[in-house]
Amino acid sequence: MTEALSFRSLKTRTVQNRFNIIVGLLLFILAFGLVESIASVKVMSGIRAYVSGEGLWSKAQKEADSYLVKYTSTHNESDYQEFLLYTGVQLGDHQARIEMDKPNPNETLVRQGFIQGGNNPSDVDDLIFLYRNLKDNSLMRPAVSTWKQGDIVTAKMIALASEIHALVTSRATVTTAGQAAWDAELATLVARTYTLDRQLTVLENQFSAGLGQASRRVSRYLYSITFFMTGLLGILTLVFAVRSARSIIQLDKQKTEFVSLASHQLRTPLTAMNWYAEALLSETAGPITKQQREYLSELQGGGQRMAALISDLLKMSSLDLGTYHPEFKKVDIEHVINTISRDLQPLITQNGLHLSVQIEPDVPQLTIDEQLLSGVLQNLVSNSVKYSRHGGKISVSVRKQRRNILIHVADNGIGIPDKQQKHIFSKLFRADNAQKVDANGTGLGLYIVKAMTRSMGGKVWFESTEHKGTDFYIRLPIYNTKPRA
Ligand code: ADP
Repeated sequence: MTEALSFRSLKTRTVQNRFNIIVGLLLFILAFGLVESIASVKVMSGIRAYVSGEGLWSKAQKEADSYLVKYTSTHNESDYQEFLLYTGVQLGDHQARIEMDKPNPNETLVRQGFIQGGNNPSDVDDLIFLYRNLKDNSLMRPAVSTWKQGDIVTAKMIALASEIHALVTSRATVTTAGQAAWDAELATLVARTYTLDRQLTVLENQFSAGLGQASRRVSRYLYSITFFMTGLLGILTLVFAVRSARSIIQLDKQKTEFVSLASHQLRTPLTAMNWYAEALLSETAGPITKQQREYLSELQGGGQRMAALISDLLKMSSLDLGTYHPEFKKVDIEHVINTISRDLQPLITQNGLHLSVQIEPDVPQLTIDEQLLSGVLQNLVSNSVKYSRHGGKISVSVRKQRRNILIHVADNGIGIPDKQQKHIFSKLFRADNAQKVDANGTGLGLYIVKAMTRSMGGKVWFESTEHKGTDFYIRLPIYNTKPRA
């Protein structure tokens, strides 16, 4: 294998480069498969055409001989003409072969010959293809040599027939005294036809056997080459694909680690900035003017939004990297929901919203990681708050479903446009209508919700209609025993 494709050099290639190599290999397999199947079909149908051509040739030869023998007793000219007619089949194939052996064969003559030989016109291309490409190959050589010998014997038979014809035609001039000699000469000629006929029968059998062997060899050869090439290229592609997938995963992990590291580094100075902004606003460092308060409030708002983004990025990376280790213990879901609604109460009041909570009496305590559960519910309820219009209604209900609980968070807010619903759990995705209502979202909340739900062994899904509202559902197992990836 060249350096260009070696595994060592693969390590230093970009993802795009590796992808191109895989696509290239697959295209090569495809092209190879196509060329190989076309060639095999052509070779096999060429062999089939020769087998059926040989059948016609033998049949015509037998008919010709029987008319010749008949002619020796009937002396009927029409029998001799029949002999010549049937011999035309062999002569046709002979013409095609002689023409194909020339350096620049005349294709019309070749076609004419094969068609005179009784071959189906649609087989002629395959007959020519096979002869031209494989006549000198060990595959076809025995059959071709038998064909040549057959043509020599046929030529002898035609010459013999011509002698018989001359003898029969001279019969009228034979005297009674010469009759016996004439009869003896005819008998000798007839005996020679039998000899030639036997030779032709042997050659016909040899020709068929040669073709049969060729066809078996071609099948075996094609089978092995297909098996070998497909296996080899398949394994090669698999190795490249697995190696590339591994590096993509590695690269993804490195990116997530970078995001995590950068977020950590940003958090410390940001905390200090937020702290000082708050200190200045509380005037502990001295009085501030109205305009300074305005600027400081802006600074504090921006700092808080950035802190929320950093916190989301950290959560996302720890879930992606699997560095968060859930702790499963008994949790009262009602308590979790009440804490969240208390925290959100100022916003709910500010927007004139109405939040109702309904927990069915049979909902038991869950064995779950409280931080994850609280993170999921906090995200969903705060989204409902963010994306509701003034005076909107939000409801959170929980009920038991056999070994699970079903949490339903519903609002009658702006909803999610139909066309964008499929992207809603993707990292950083925000629907168009949401961006108009709230410019500060991160698009990370639902990605985190999905990852957290999965870590708790649950499932999240939603239904939404734009302008009408959104329903999010979370199904969680009541008992969680071990963390899930
Ligand atoms: P963010 O809210 O910060 O934009 P999320 O990941 O929490 O990010 O949500 C992704 C997007 O899903 C939102 O931007 C919004 O388009 C849509 N979305 C989520 N919850 C709702 C909801 N209750 N009503 C309408 N749209 C929602």
